[in-house]
Amino acid sequence: MFYLEPLPFAYDALEPYIDAGTMRLHHDKHHQTYVDKLNERVSKLEIPESRLEDLLGHKDQIIRNMAGGVYNHNLFWKFLSPDYELPTPDSKTIEQFSNSAMGLFGSGWIWLTKSNKIISTQNQDHPVIDPSDPIILCLDVWEHAYYLKYQNRRKDYIDSFFTLLKI
Ligand code: MN
Repeated sequence: MFYLEPLPFAYDALEPYIDAGTMRLHHDKHHQTYVDKLNERVSKLEIPESRLEDLLGHKDQIIRNMAGGVYNHNLFWKFLSPDYELPTPDSKTIEQFSNSAMGLFGSGWIWLTKSNKIISTQNQDHPVIDPSDPIILCLDVWEHAYYLKYQNRRKDYIDSFFTLLKI
């Protein structure tokens, strides 16, 4: 069984950049749904007890989507946590990251690795990473991450994200 990890900070901790209403919906509903659907599928396919990380590349598409949904959000909350110390990206990296986030068609994620490599993934896919160059930041660019507050203004959401990180 997989469980939803509690949000590692208060729902309103990221106000006004990411509002408490969005955080509640995102964590308590969307993230929870990935956990529930992952458990449902694991049980249906009778997959033996596994670590979440080991299901990210699973051959079953539903397992892959749901495991990614759970794992990616765990990481996102960690990076958004006011306690997380991001090695501050330089302005060129922020610009490239923002452009990738704007350019991603549909739903997906943008990732930044320690060596400043920027990676885009679709849906809930988790990137294949060289262990010597770990992920240090990610951004959820699904509409559910910003629609309540920013509606279709993805750029404002991305700008707020970087403002938030610098505080
Ligand atoms: Mn999300």
